[in-house]
Amino acid sequence: MTSPRKTYIIANWKMNFTPGEASLYLHRLEKRITPSRNVQVILAPSTVALQPLSLQINRRQFKLAAQNFYWRDYGAYTGETSVSQLRGFVDYAIVGHSERRYVFNESEEDIAKKVAAAIRNNLTPILCIGETAMERKDGETAAAIYSQLINGLHEVSKEDISKIIIAYEPVWAISSNKNARPAKPADIDEAQILIRKHVSKLFGKTASEQIPVLYGGSVNSDTAGGYLSINGIDGLLIGGASLIADSFCAIVETAKGMKKYE
Ligand code: PEP
Repeated sequence: MTSPRKTYIIANWKMNFTPGEASLYLHRLEKRITPSRNVQVILAPSTVALQPLSLQINRRQFKLAAQNFYWRDYGAYTGETSVSQLRGFVDYAIVGHSERRYVFNESEEDIAKKVAAAIRNNLTPILCIGETAMERKDGETAAAIYSQLINGLHEVSKEDISKIIIAYEPVWAISSNKNARPAKPADIDEAQILIRKHVSKLFGKTASEQIPVLYGGSVNSDTAGGYLSINGIDGLLIGGASLIADSFCAIVETAKGMKKYE
């Protein structure tokens, strides 16, 4: 029997916590979350906290992810941080988050270049895709998922597709949006089937079966178990609930206790 796929629990702290606060919060998590072969816990603090936290973490317990970076490796780009500068501190990098797409007007081209830059620097990109409320209302969910996927993976080769994680995050489900509501398991299942179908067409069947597909959008400790039990969902990207130690630790415990790991 093949062993079940790994589960990823990712905490996106967004623009919260000073480096000192992030360090104290990490101390609290360190005491409560034990390393696991099955569940990879990834923390994405803001850029200023990456270097100090990289010295503090036990990498068997936690990995770090960048929330953002610029795709060029160096040069005259005032205010930017390149992925090659972050490489020693992080193993993962979030790309294409809806707040980057819609608040900072990041283009599909920027996103594709960031995915490529992460791979070039040996980091795993976590490519976020998901339709807006309007796209869903207009029946354009499948088209939006397809276009974000094909554009985001535009510069990825067949050899490198195994280095990517996809996070399905419908924009209307993310808690920072007005009127946010959590997605229904059936919607998430439909999306992950679609994502795997497109990956299969673009990169082959094996890639589509092996690529980790996560869900993100208003997940909390009460709903995490239900989402994690969707066949084909390999983890969760968590914003708001990742800032509360009790909630986040309970979600990690739920992931560790999943039936597939018994
Ligand atoms: C996110 O911003 O990626 C996210 C999933 O946030 P929240 O869990 O707060 O909806």
